[in-house]
Amino acid sequence: MTGIRLEGIVKRYGTAAAARIDRLEIGDGEIVSLLGPSGCGKTTTLRIVAGLIEQDEGDLWFGDRLVNDVPPERRNAAMVFQNYALFPHMTVRQNIAFGLEVRRRPRAEIDRKIDAVLELVKLPGTGDRLPKQLSGGQQQRIAIARALATEPDVLLFDEPLSNLDAKLREYMRFELRKLLESLKITTLYVTHDQAEAMVVSDRIVVMDKGAIIQVDTPHRVYRDPASRFVAEFVGTASFLEGRIESWDAAAGRGTVSLADGLSLAGRGHGLKPGDAAVLCVRPEAISLLPPDQSGPGDHAGSVDAVVDLGEVIDYHVRLGGWTLRTRTIAGPRPGGPGDRVAVRLDPERCYVVAG
Ligand code: ATP
Repeated sequence: MTGIRLEGIVKRYGTAAAARIDRLEIGDGEIVSLLGPSGCGKTTTLRIVAGLIEQDEGDLWFGDRLVNDVPPERRNAAMVFQNYALFPHMTVRQNIAFGLEVRRRPRAEIDRKIDAVLELVKLPGTGDRLPKQLSGGQQQRIAIARALATEPDVLLFDEPLSNLDAKLREYMRFELRKLLESLKITTLYVTHDQAEAMVVSDRIVVMDKGAIIQVDTPHRVYRDPASRFVAEFVGTASFLEGRIESWDAAAGRGTVSLADGLSLAGRGHGLKPGDAAVLCVRPEAISLLPPDQSGPGDHAGSVDAVVDLGEVIDYHVRLGGWTLRTRTIAGPRPGGPGDRVAVRLDPERCYVVAG
């Protein structure tokens, strides 16, 4: 097994840096996602690790092996692409056998491995079909089976679920997580879909403009965003701008005074009184109550819009000069558009970042 280490990696196109990774370590058997908007450098970073793009600067290590000058086919990494990249004229068995035949493995071993990986991706019995005789989700599982057959030290995924429809993508996220968890192969996974990154990964690397903004577990990326960019990209939130009014650095919490005179509490770090700040209010931080049930610390607000999505209801709520977005499980409604409501905020789920 092999961990991966990137040190001082820079890749430029012209004068612009497509990727600039000061340091990133992926542990043995760890599943790490690169997450960020289009053009942030995810694919460039993944391709550098695969050996398909050469970095201009920096070192890449697989375990204690410096692989800067090692060609892709000798890195023992297997890549799964967004478009599956199966050979259309070959059967499933022939597709999976390909990498093993290139490595001149004995026939009996090849046959045994094909059966084992088809079992692993839950598609036994499909070996004699052509890719076009399989659904998109099945084709992607064959592409994964083909990658696994060569017993790679490192698995690389480039947006592997993006070609699937929304329902299947959601299902495949969980299937893929289960499979990767059982394999314990070091995995680097590129996606622009934050929900996919949350489900699949042990840790998420949030990137912007070629650089790493935050590396953390999915839980911490969501609950302890390093910046407004991270809070905006991962999950949803309402953003309220103001200044730090009071701050307890040891406890990592304090209050933000907003331009319209509201003062709201939240958690964060590295802040001090007077700093420009943004309060990121997650939907689950907000409870709406009929005004007659208002309690101490609640704020008076009004419902702007109600969007009924069936199992959940989205509310847009006016609070001072701000609009907050929240979501409740369908049930008794605290109010309809134009109605007054009491707004209760859970400061544990409001995150303060530098403004
Ligand atoms: P996407 O999600 O859209 O695939 P990404 O995060 O994977 O985006 P990259 O493909 O790594 O982003 O691209 C990073 C930056 O480098 C972008 O600004 C892109 O335009 C630029 N870039 C990538 N490949 C090349 C190239 N071959 N020549 C010039 N610029 C490139």
